[in-house]
Amino acid sequence: MQVGDVVRVPLGGREVLAFVVAPEREADADARVKALLERLDVPRAFDDAGLHMARFIAEYYLCTLGEALGAVVLNGALPRTDEALRRSAERPPRERYPSVPDRFIALLWETLPDGCSPGALLRHPEARRAGDRVALLRHIQTLVRGGALTRERHFVEPRVQTYRVRVLHPGATPISGKKAEALVAFVREQPGVPRADALLAGFSAAVIARAVKAGALVEATVEPRRTRSAAVAGPAPFPPTAEQRAALARIDAWLDAGTYHEALVHGVTGSGKTYIYVEAIKRVVREGGRAIVLVPEISLTPQTARRFEVAFGERVAVLHSALSERERFEAWQACMRGEIDVVVGARSAVFAPLRDVRLLVVDESHETSYKQDTSPRYHAVAVARERMRREGGILLLGSATPSLESYAAATAGRIELIVLRERATAQAMPAVRIVDLGAEFEAGNRRVFSGPLVQALADRIERKQKSVLFVNRRGSASFVLCRSCGKVPECPRCSVSLTAHRSESLLRCHYCDFQTAFPQTCPACGLPTIKEFGIGTERVAEEIARLFPHAHVLRMDSDTTTRVGDHARILSEFEASGDVLVGTQMVAKGLDFPTVTLVGVVAADTGLHIADFRASERTFGLIAQVCGRSGRSAPGEAIVQTYAPNHPAIVLAAQHDYDTFAARELRERRLLGYPPAKRLVYLGIIGRSRSDAWQVATELASLLAERVPGEVLGPAPYAIARLNNEWRFRIALKTTEPAKTRRALREYVLPFARRERRARIAINVDP
Ligand SMILES: [Zn+2]
Ligand SMILES: [Zn+2]
Repeated sequence: MQVGDVVRVPLGGREVLAFVVAPEREADADARVKALLERLDVPRAFDDAGLHMARFIAEYYLCTLGEALGAVVLNGALPRTDEALRRSAERPPRERYPSVPDRFIALLWETLPDGCSPGALLRHPEARRAGDRVALLRHIQTLVRGGALTRERHFVEPRVQTYRVRVLHPGATPISGKKAEALVAFVREQPGVPRADALLAGFSAAVIARAVKAGALVEATVEPRRTRSAAVAGPAPFPPTAEQRAALARIDAWLDAGTYHEALVHGVTGSGKTYIYVEAIKRVVREGGRAIVLVPEISLTPQTARRFEVAFGERVAVLHSALSERERFEAWQACMRGEIDVVVGARSAVFAPLRDVRLLVVDESHETSYKQDTSPRYHAVAVARERMRREGGILLLGSATPSLESYAAATAGRIELIVLRERATAQAMPAVRIVDLGAEFEAGNRRVFSGPLVQALADRIERKQKSVLFVNRRGSASFVLCRSCGKVPECPRCSVSLTAHRSESLLRCHYCDFQTAFPQTCPACGLPTIKEFGIGTERVAEEIARLFPHAHVLRMDSDTTTRVGDHARILSEFEASGDVLVGTQMVAKGLDFPTVTLVGVVAADTGLHIADFRASERTFGLIAQVCGRSGRSAPGEAIVQTYAPNHPAIVLAAQHDYDTFAARELRERRLLGYPPAKRLVYLGIIGRSRSDAWQVATELASLLAERVPGEVLGPAPYAIARLNNEWRFRIALKTTEPAKTRRALREYVLPFARRERRARIAINVDP
């Protein structure tokens, strides 16, 4: 028996699955312990490093070890529970269960086989005629209580699998249809390409299935060492710059020392951070060590993942969103068996069960996606730090716009700092121009685009160059308003206004997905005076099509990228024939557009008005990242439209001056007592009843004031006070003694939260 084994244990009258978290030992004679029933013959769900990280998360983020392990363990590693309904030999007489319809009993005892699953029963058309889902579940319950039915549960164990992937080869039969032909051409170019890569490249599962069925493609399952070839190599790297060589020399020295080091790699976009990661990992692997690379979201950064695949071939596992649960689990097992040297993946790849990890890279380490926003609310950088500290490895945090926490630690000398000021391509950063929308408005321009932006777009379209426009909201308008009575339609479940999506004739809630038809007349006064206000991606794309009817406009936001591969599809179309790409945050995150010469930020200040102490930092980061997209290989220009042309976040981002911005912002944070000057814990109090939730919040606030070291702020309603029919209040706790504060929270607040029935309490450490 070892740590991470899955076992069956008795609990109360039931039997549950559990993980082994400590070595076996003899129980004291008088201890009331029960023996466990059986060790399941399945691969370990986690290793010692995984258990250590789970303990760290439970301790630091104030959750149970079980919750923390929920983040560490892959779903595929757990045996599934299957349920069978066993019926009594005799069909029960009608009068014994008067509330259960006869046709339902007949279905169970005459039509369906004994031992069918509840799912199969509920899906049966005859069952549907006997009632809705809730009613059917009640009928099953009635029959179980009366003894006519028994529920039998058993575990379906996951098997030990070799790490295999599904690949595609060209077949003999021709196929017609534009998409299928393109797919076959794609596979012909690189026979043996993984199916997941075809999905990522924008081909749908349906097209692949059709081509395989028709014999135009052949699908096979192989071990990954046979999938990669040099054919997928990306663009040839530039010769390393002096800065890159110096950075590698320092990393080499840390690797020689063989002890824990953490470094911020602060490099402007295009400075060649990935080259440094790849070269450092090459050395680690050469010496028998292993490495993990975290990236914010693989579908947004396929080029980065590809460079690691090219460099490390069969020894790299890329855990991207196009993999099935089974494929992920197989990759995990290959890691445990020592067949993998490098893992590239999003947040949860930090838990990869690799032994001897000597280098852990967090690319774009400022990204918010590294913080999990459901329990356990861990931050991948904190977990990575803990892992490297324990294993004596090196942690590299890469960013063009680092989080102020990392930056403050690096400039104070608590962690190492590597600065890359030159672009590896030797192209200058784009010239950024700020346009004052207030002045444009006074001059009579009420359009979405200012004069300078229209001029710059016209110029690019004429010269056949590409432009990217960044808008931070999807949809056609932020909200709609009745000009007669002032009514703004709101979500019935949340306290937010509904967003217009005109192309679908819908109003939609961006928080809970509630949707309703776009009103022809005002729902309050009945007049046809409904007007859209604010702008979203859809409206911007429409506006361009109106101004430049011959331009090829593409849109990239969460409405147009609902499936795996949509990003790649839009990008390759843009690359081939697009003039203008309109998009949300997505277009700012790590995508490489070598041929873009104009970037426009349509409304730079919208993010500044959010009640969040990081609003300025986020706005700076976004503008700096978006502007860095321009001119990667040809001279570029960026135009930033704003109503706040003098705001430091905007002015300094336009000047690519991170250091001045950071110094200013850190001063501000010190004054206001926000991180990194002080540490922050948010306590959310969430409940169906507004008065109950408020009551709990005030009780909690006084408990905190009495027992927990730190400054208590609130309770106050969240910026969105009601979400999905629940009322939400928040208490902020600022502290300079985080360890003491966490201890007190564990001792006093966790028991309070467990007892409380009127509202849920969500604790968020380092929000
Ligand atoms: Zn009205
Ligand atoms: Zn809603």
